[in-house]
Amino acid sequence: MSLNILVFKNNAGNPSVTRAQVETDISDANERFAQSTIRLVANINMGGAGDPGIEQPAVFSNGFTDPEPLALLFPNEDAQAALEEMDNDNNTVDVLYVETVDILGVGARAVSYTHSFNGTGNQKYSNWIVMSSVNAGGGKPHTLPHELMHILLDNSHRTSPGPNDPPTALFRGGTTLNKSVGGTKRIGPYPDTAVQGAAGNNDTIMIRHRAETLPQ
Ligand SMILES: [Zn+2]
Repeated sequence: MSLNILVFKNNAGNPSVTRAQVETDISDANERFAQSTIRLVANINMGGAGDPGIEQPAVFSNGFTDPEPLALLFPNEDAQAALEEMDNDNNTVDVLYVETVDILGVGARAVSYTHSFNGTGNQKYSNWIVMSSVNAGGGKPHTLPHELMHILLDNSHRTSPGPNDPPTALFRGGTTLNKSVGGTKRIGPYPDTAVQGAAGNNDTIMIRHRAETLPQ
């Protein structure tokens, strides 16, 4: 599975995250996805020689502002600026690291834009992620793989009344902040699906397939 990682400068003019922090996130994500035999291959763009960070679009200076929770129909200035920076390969997940991510006025760890919630008619607005360096970069090991689960399952969280994900699921909303044994690490099928209903039974089959060809 290919990632195109773009690290933007923060308001202080420094890269939002270091290359080492990005590599830690990728390594942590690979630990999780190993259970589904998926391996991430990332191109990391830190803005050129010396890793200065990519120049921050002006509209990011007050944070990357989520255009509209759930469906993406009318890209705002932030989404349009993001689009300018993404590659033209429909089979890579573009991952933008910025200083902060704002969803309805609340600072978030990250936000992902799946194919099924892209109503713009422009495929380039499918399959991308924005990571907040303040809330997630380098220190929250399940954030990036959780967001990639959104992309691969092409879905939002599975909550009641339908079958839910168990508390140890990587796809569970609000992932745990460390890699403890009881943390949010698992990818379905889950051993306790009898308790949880049918959520996740086909997850590994589905994401393994989509890691080869992203939803489009
Ligand atoms: Zn989520």
